[in-house]
Amino acid sequence: MQLNNYIGGTWQEAGGADYTAVLNPANGTELAQVRLSTKEDVSLAVKSAKEAQKKWALVPAPKRADFLYEIGRLMKEKKEHLSQVLTKEMGKVIEEARGEVQEGIDMAFYMAGEGRRMFGETVPSELQDKFAMSVRAPIGVVGLITPWNFPVAIATWKSFPAIVAGNTFIWKPATETPMMAYEMALIFEEAGLPAGVANIVFGSGAEVGTAMIEHPDVRVISFTGSTETGRHVAETGGRHLKKVSLEMGGKNAVIVMDDADIELAVEGILWSAFGTAGQRCTACSRVIVHTDVKEELEQKLVEAMKVLSIGDGMDESVKIGPVINQKALDKIHGYVGIGKDEGAKLLAGGHILTDGKLVDGHYYEPTLFTDVKWDSRLAQEEIFGPVVSLIEVSSLDEAIEVNNSVKFGLSSSIFSRDVNKVFRAQRDLDTGIVYVNAGTTGAEIHLPFGGTKGTGNGHRDSGVAALDVFTEWKSIYIDFSGKLQRAQIDTD
Ligand code: NAD
Repeated sequence: MQLNNYIGGTWQEAGGADYTAVLNPANGTELAQVRLSTKEDVSLAVKSAKEAQKKWALVPAPKRADFLYEIGRLMKEKKEHLSQVLTKEMGKVIEEARGEVQEGIDMAFYMAGEGRRMFGETVPSELQDKFAMSVRAPIGVVGLITPWNFPVAIATWKSFPAIVAGNTFIWKPATETPMMAYEMALIFEEAGLPAGVANIVFGSGAEVGTAMIEHPDVRVISFTGSTETGRHVAETGGRHLKKVSLEMGGKNAVIVMDDADIELAVEGILWSAFGTAGQRCTACSRVIVHTDVKEELEQKLVEAMKVLSIGDGMDESVKIGPVINQKALDKIHGYVGIGKDEGAKLLAGGHILTDGKLVDGHYYEPTLFTDVKWDSRLAQEEIFGPVVSLIEVSSLDEAIEVNNSVKFGLSSSIFSRDVNKVFRAQRDLDTGIVYVNAGTTGAEIHLPFGGTKGTGNGHRDSGVAALDVFTEWKSIYIDFSGKLQRAQIDTD
């Protein structure tokens, strides 16, 4: 199977000479071939998007929303198929893949609703017989660059608000996960989205991503990926005066206080640390634990980790699937080596798994370190795999300080039954998302998603906040006095 670009409502073979194979991380089977696109392919896509946008912007927003309702309906109808493609292509277990597709469906219906809201403001004018209001205006052609770990959900967080707000887009999915983008293109086509509104160009970040950022007709870049790439995107976008929205890495912590429900904390840590094999931007990779419950938590975590089944995510009984590729496996194992060298104590895991059916895939054992120093590399850098570091603290203040010590600020959580501690924590934890008595994952699409510090640059995906990325505020003054009225001067 060869995947072609979707440009101007037609399927077009990319112009590059190179191909890349999409491999199932669970067993190495080849799923598809993708021909890599060039700068010229990006230009074609931008041309078609620019042409389409003129008409699309004039379609009333409730009518644009009707396409999203249809896209959501089709995603719902094909939910199981989409989930299975997702698991095969990216590796997350099928139950989680279904959850991710559901997130996209939720986003479709939620953003479709925005077609009948998209509120602006009307304010009283300071002058007589003058009317003042603000409206959200579409921006034009927007560029979407997405990572492989949430190949559907993140694309919907970006493309659906772009669509309902009257923009057209070019989407470059991660090279590891083009199949989900192909599936979404089929849905856009079946939903009858006008040609040129959605354009999908497959290819590398260096070639296609850069061409999108540098193209003068692409007005916005909405990027999700690593902080390293995001910085490069922001630098390049900045030189071209682009509006750049960045959602980047995380180093998220669960705080377990001395009054916590420990069983519940164990469940929350397992789910948020090892779900998607630790490859979520919101994955818990640090546990900040109060001295009085440290030993109990360690014992219970180690016990619970023993029963986590590892294997091909298509098997309904499996809890932890593979990591994306060999490079990721090597990086994770490298960090386990760093942890040992730094003097952290390995309590569980720490191995690449190759036994039996796992031999052709990329599997890493769920891993737990304790006695980790808060400022060590293990505790400070994003590993993006199933590795958790326990850090001991003796007070809530210290826990918050340790939580905030990293350069990232995406998600944090606290387990405590003391309402005073909980309220102080939700105020003082310097992250874009805070959970109480739940792990660090579990965002719902109708609230803003994003982080502080090295995780973002102040923009948000999801929720109404996503519309801020894909619209410009336009302020409109209508003077019906029939005479010149000077603001701030003719006010008496
Ligand atoms: P990545 O930075 O390697 O790639 C992300 C996207 O950027 C891909 O489509 C890639 O092809 C593209 N890209 C690479 N080089 C580029 C360049 N020079 N110019 C333009 N585009 C370029 O990230 P990844 O490995 O795909 O994803 C994992 C990372 O994403 C982790 O750091 C994770 O925390 C982060 N992430 C963040 C969020 C969030 O919302 N904050 C969500 C999911 C993942």
